[in-house]
Amino acid sequence: MPRGTYEDTLTTAEQVTPFDYIKLDTTGDYARICIPAPLPGHVPFWWEYVHSIKAPWLNDDGTPVLISIPNKRDGGTKLGYNLGFIGQRLCLGRQEVIEGTGRGLDTEACEACHAALEFGITSLRPERRFAVPVIKYNTTSRTSTEVRKPPNGDILVWRLNQRGWNEFKGTTPGAIRELLDLAEDAPVDFADVDLVLFCSEGTFQRVDLKPPLRSARKRYPEIGVVLDALWAEPANHPSEAQLRAACGRDGDATFMAADVKNAVDRWRSAEKFGTDPEKWAAVATATPVAGPQQDVAAQLDSLMADVDRNGMDEFAPASVPPPAAPSASFDEGGFDDDTYAAATGQPPAAAAAPALSADRSPAAPPPVPAANGSGAKSFAEIMEGAS
Ligand SMILES: [Zn+2]
Repeated sequence: MPRGTYEDTLTTAEQVTPFDYIKLDTTGDYARICIPAPLPGHVPFWWEYVHSIKAPWLNDDGTPVLISIPNKRDGGTKLGYNLGFIGQRLCLGRQEVIEGTGRGLDTEACEACHAALEFGITSLRPERRFAVPVIKYNTTSRTSTEVRKPPNGDILVWRLNQRGWNEFKGTTPGAIRELLDLAEDAPVDFADVDLVLFCSEGTFQRVDLKPPLRSARKRYPEIGVVLDALWAEPANHPSEAQLRAACGRDGDATFMAADVKNAVDRWRSAEKFGTDPEKWAAVATATPVAGPQQDVAAQLDSLMADVDRNGMDEFAPASVPPPAAPSASFDEGGFDDDTYAAATGQPPAAAAAPALSADRSPAAPPPVPAANGSGAKSFAEIMEGAS
C-alpha cells in the first residue's frame, strides 16, 4: 500500500473527481468547440464499453408512468413509457470476448451482459462511449457561436455514445473538405475547424452536430494565443482516470447486479400493463399467470425496440440549422467570424445537419420517486435529477 498523507481523501476506492463536461440541455443553446492536437503523452480521447441502464418509471400499483412521445410513423404523438435512468456503468466484460465469441456481450464476466441475453433486453447491451478533451469557446451568448471578446475558453470533456461518434466521424471529414475547399481524398485535421453543437430539443437532450466553422483559434491570433496557452498546460487537462470516469461509473459487480435487477423488474411490471391505460383495470384484476419466460423476453425486446424507434433513445433528424447570420463586427463586441446565432429570422439553410446523440445524462443514482414510485416525473426532471 502507498504511504498516506492527510491530504489524501481515501474515502472510497476508485474515487475520481469528475472533470467538467459539455452539457447542452436547453433548446437553442450552442457550443463552439475545437479539438487541438493532443499534448505529448496524452491520448486524443478515451472510450469504454458501457451499459446505459434505464427502465420505465412505475406508479405505486405497478402501472407504468406514461408520457406523450413522438410517433415517427405518422408524425403525431402517442403514449409511451417514461424511461428513467438507473445507471451508466462500465461493462465488466473483457474486450476480446465482447468483440469475439461473445458477439457483443461477455455473459460470464458481466451481470448486465448476462441479463441482456437472458431477458432479451436490447438496450442493456454494452455500447462504446467516448470522452474527448476539447476547448469550448466562450461565446457572446449561449445561443450564439460568436466568440466573445476578449477571447477565452474552457477545456471540457465532450461525451458521445456510439451513434454520436459515428455521426461525428462519418460526416465531419466531408464537411471539413467542403468548408476548406479541399480535394475529395485530401487528409483532414479536426484541429483545422471549429465544431458546432446545437441543442435542438432540451427535454430529450437532443444535440445536433452542425456543419463546422472556420477555426477562430487559427484565424485570429488574439484568440489563438489565449486558447493555445490554455491547452498547452497539462494540468488543465483531464487525467486518463477522469476520461474513463466520463464514459461511465466503474461497474462494481454488486451495484451492477442491483441496477440490472431493478431494470428487469421495472420492465416486467410495465410490460404487464402496457401503454393503454384503458386495459389496466383488466390486468390488475386478472389472476396473475406467469407466462413462459421466452414470451416475456421477446415482448420486452420488442417494446424496447419500439421505444428506441420513437424518440426516447434515438435522436430525431436534426432541425434545419439556422443560417450563418452576419455577425456583429469585431468592434461591436464579438469576433467577426462565421457564426451561428439563434432567431435570425432568415430562411433555413438547404442542408440539414446530422443528428448527434452527444450526451445524455451522467452516471448517477436515479432520483427514485418516493414510496416505491408514485412520481410522474417528466423526462426532463429525471435527467435533471440524475445530473
Ligand atoms: Zn457488460
